[in-house]
Amino acid sequence: MIQLYIPLNFLGVIYREIKQNLTDLDKMFTLMERDREVADAPGAQPLDTARGSGIRFEQVDFAYEPARPILHGVDFEIPDGKTVAVVGPSGSGKSTLGRLLYRFYDVQAGSVRIAGQDIRAVTQSSVRRAIGIVPQDTVLFNDTIAYNIGYGRPGASQAEIEAAARAAHIHDFIAAMPLGYQTMVGERGLKLSGGEKQRVAIARTLLKNPPILIFDEATSALDSANERAIQAELQSVARGRTTLVIAHRLSTVVDAHEILVMEAGRIAERGSHAQLLAAGGRYARMWALQQNEPAPAAGAAHQAVGS
Ligand code: ATP
Repeated sequence: MIQLYIPLNFLGVIYREIKQNLTDLDKMFTLMERDREVADAPGAQPLDTARGSGIRFEQVDFAYEPARPILHGVDFEIPDGKTVAVVGPSGSGKSTLGRLLYRFYDVQAGSVRIAGQDIRAVTQSSVRRAIGIVPQDTVLFNDTIAYNIGYGRPGASQAEIEAAARAAHIHDFIAAMPLGYQTMVGERGLKLSGGEKQRVAIARTLLKNPPILIFDEATSALDSANERAIQAELQSVARGRTTLVIAHRLSTVVDAHEILVMEAGRIAERGSHAQLLAAGGRYARMWALQQNEPAPAAGAAHQAVGS
C-alpha cells in the first residue's frame, strides 16, 4: 500500500504544481487580453489629479461582445471623496463598472470621466496609478509577506510596509511568525485565509495611497466577526477617497453617499439607504430578506446577496 501511496502522493504534488502554474498563466493571459482592448490616444497626457478625483459615468453603454449588450445608459456620479455602492443580482453588471473605471475596456457609448477628464483621452497608466483596487480575490506571489505588501508601491521601505500592515491590522499576525515579514507566502509557504488576503490588499492600497478606490467585496465566506472588522478597516481606508464599492452583501453599503441597485445592466433604483428603504422597492425587499437570514456561525458561508 505504501508503495502505491508514495508515487500517488508525488503525482498529487506535481499535479498541484502544474495546475497552479496553469492558473497563473491563465491570469496572465487574461490580463494581457484585457490590455489589448485599450490603447492610449496619440498624444495622450497623464490624468491631472490636482483637479480632484470625482467620477462620472455618463450614459454608458457597454458590451464585451457586440451581440450581447451588458450596460445600458448607466449614469451616476461619485463626488470627490464620497462612496457610491452598487448592489444587485449576480450578472447585473456591478463588477463591469469597476473594470470600465480601471479602463480594462472602453465604453461603446457615453463616457467615464475622472475630475472632468474622459479616461479615453488620458494615459492608461496614469488612470491606474490614481486607482487602488481591493479585489474579491487578492493574487499573492510565491514570495515573502514583505514583498506581497510592498508590491503596492515599489521601493517602499520596511518601515512603510510595517506601518501599512499595522493600519490594515495584519502586523500582529505577521510579527507572530518566526520569520516575521520574511515568511514565504504561497503554494509552498504560508497560506492566508480570505480575510488575511483582503488585509494584504488593504495594506498594499494604503502604501499606494491612491485618490480613488475600487472595492470589489469578496463573495467568499468570511465569518461575521472578520467581516465586520474588514468593513471597519475599509471604511477608514475609504475616508477622503472617491470610492466605488461593488457590494455582494448589503451590510457594507448602509453609509454610502448613494446606493445604485443594478438589474440587467441598468440602474433600477438609486438613493441613500434610508431613501431606498422608505421607497419599499427592490432594495427594501433585499434588505428585509437579509435581515431574516440566520447569523452565520464563525467560519460558515455567509450568503451573498444575489450571488
Ligand atoms: P457577480 O455579482 O456575480 O460578481 P456582476 O453583477 O458583478 O456579478 P458582471 O461581472 O459585471 O456581473 O457581469 C455582467 C455580465 O457580463 C454577465 O452576464 C457576465 O456573464 C458578462 N461578462 C463578464 N465578463 C465578461 C467577459 N470577459 N466576456 C464576456 N462577458 C462577460
